[in-house]
Amino acid sequence: MMNYENILREHNLKATNQRVGILSIMEQKGHISIEDLYSKIKLDFPSISLATLYKNMHAMLKNELLTEIKVENSKTHFEIASNNHAHLYCEKCRELVDLDIEFKKLNNEILKDSGFLLNKTNLTFSGICIACQGV
Ligand SMILES: [Zn+2]
Ligand SMILES: [Zn+2]
Repeated sequence: MMNYENILREHNLKATNQRVGILSIMEQKGHISIEDLYSKIKLDFPSISLATLYKNMHAMLKNELLTEIKVENSKTHFEIASNNHAHLYCEKCRELVDLDIEFKKLNNEILKDSGFLLNKTNLTFSGICIACQGV
């Protein structure tokens, strides 16, 4: 388990109980929409409002503790920021899965070809996962 208090402080954020609660749900789930997160966080903090949740999420996004995953025709998902990776999105069960990409290698190749310096990735492939293919 991650030390959420330390992670929050490293990102210049106050380690409030609610933020720790949000991060622990996010670590369990991997990728989560704000609606799902809200229904889960309500179990531990019944009085939390959606506006407060948004405020906390916004602060953690701004300080790059969280990243946003935009998915076409689906809800935006959030995850705890980690190394640059891409996502696979299943159009049937709507699950998001991490996909490792060789970001450093890609960065070097692009830098060599065009001088462009990569910063981060926001790449999602969509298709059908193996479970949904029924094989
Ligand atoms: Zn699926
Ligand atoms: Zn991910």
